Amino acid sequence: MDNQKLKILKDLNKTIELAKGTKLYKNKKLHKLNSLTELSKLPFTSKEDLRDSYPYGGLAVPQSEIIEAHTTSGTTGKPTLSFFTKKDLAEGSKAISEAWRTFGINKKSKVMFIMSYGLYSGAALNTYAIQSIGAFVLPSGIQPVLTQLNFMVDFEIDTIIATPGYLLYLYQWMKTNKFDRSKLKLIRAIAAGEVYSNDIREDIENKLQIKVFDHYGLCEVNTGIAYECTERKGLHVIDDYVIPEVVDPKTNKVLPVGEYGELVFTSLRKDASPIIRYRTKDITCIMPGKCPCGRSRIRIGRIKSRIGETLFIKGLKIDPYELRDFVRKYLGSKLFAGDIQIIIKENDIKFIPKILMTFVKNDPKVLRNLQLKIYEFTKVKFQVKNVPQEFFNREKNNKVKFIVHEK
Ligand SMILES: [Zn+2]
Repeated sequence: MDNQKLKILKDLNKTIELAKGTKLYKNKKLHKLNSLTELSKLPFTSKEDLRDSYPYGGLAVPQSEIIEAHTTSGTTGKPTLSFFTKKDLAEGSKAISEAWRTFGINKKSKVMFIMSYGLYSGAALNTYAIQSIGAFVLPSGIQPVLTQLNFMVDFEIDTIIATPGYLLYLYQWMKTNKFDRSKLKLIRAIAAGEVYSNDIREDIENKLQIKVFDHYGLCEVNTGIAYECTERKGLHVIDDYVIPEVVDPKTNKVLPVGEYGELVFTSLRKDASPIIRYRTKDITCIMPGKCPCGRSRIRIGRIKSRIGETLFIKGLKIDPYELRDFVRKYLGSKLFAGDIQIIIKENDIKFIPKILMTFVKNDPKVLRNLQLKIYEFTKVKFQVKNVPQEFFNREKNNKVKFIVHEK
C-alpha cells in the first residue's frame, strides 16, 4: 500500500471509531479495516437512518465541540443534519477550495451566490471555501432578479452560483426586460443542485455567454465534494476527503468501474458527523481511465438520474430526466424557456399526467405536436400546458419542484 492509501485507511479507521460511539451506528456492525477494499463489508447508511437519529443521534463529539450545523432543504419529514467542529469546518472548506481553484477562482475573483443560505450547506460551506482562497463573495441568496442583476453590475461579479433552472430563468428575464448583457462582467457559472444534461448546459452557455461547470455535493456527506475541471469529462472526487463507491441498488454489490449504479460516500475527515457508506440515490459511474487534465483523482460521471424519481404511469416506467431532455431537444433552445414540472398521480389510471412548462412563444400548434411526440416517446398520454413564467415563482425560489405527486 502506498503512503497516500495508508493515510486514507488511517482516516477511514478513525471515522469508523468515531461513528461507533454514536447512537446512529450503535446497532450497525462496524469494525476496524485492514485494507480499503474491506470497506464494502460495512453496512450502508440511508437518509432514513439519519432522519431517525435527529437531532443528535449522529453526533460523535461532545455538543460543546460543535460550532455549526447544516441541514438538507428537505420538505418532507424530519431534516437530516450534519454538524461541524471548528476543525471540520476548516478542513472541509480547505478540501472544497480545490474545486474552486480548478474553476478558475483566485484572489481577484468576485463570486455571487444565488442559493438560499440559512441552514443549507451548499451555500455556507462553499462560501468559506472561496473565502479561504481570498476571493470576494457576495452572499446574495434569494432576491428579486433585478436586484441580483444590479448587484452583478455594481460589484463586477465574474462568477455566479445558481441552479441550472435559475440560470435559464435569468436569461429569459433579461431578454423579456431588455437587460443589457454587456453591463455584466460574468464569465462563468457554477450550476448545481439539480440534475442537468450536457444539452441544457450548452443551452445556458450559449444564452448567457458564459462557461458552466458542474459541482456535486450533498449536505449529508459534504457539499462540493466532486467538481469538473476545464476538460469537463466527468467530476473529480476529492478522494482523500471522501471515498466514493458505486453500488448496484438492488444487490448492494459494489459495481466495477464504468458501470452505472447508486453513488455511495464515506467521509474521511468529519469528526462531528462521521458517515459510513451513505446512499445518495444519485445514479452515476466511476469513470475509467485518466482525465486529460492529468489529475489522478477518482472521476465520477455527471449525475444521470435519481433513484425514487422514476415515474410509473399506467404500468410504464419513465425516466423524468430523459423525458425533459426529449422535450428540450424537440422544442430547441429558442422555444424552451427552462422551467418544467411533471404532475402525476400514482395508482389512478384515470388521471392524465401533466407537463407544465413555459413556452417562449405561445403557439397552440407547437403544443399539440409536442403532446403527440411525447406520446410517441413515452407511450403515455401527457397533457402539456403552457403556464406563465411567474407560475414557477423564481423570484422567491432558486429551485423548482420537478415532479409533483398529486394526492
Ligand atoms: Zn480533469
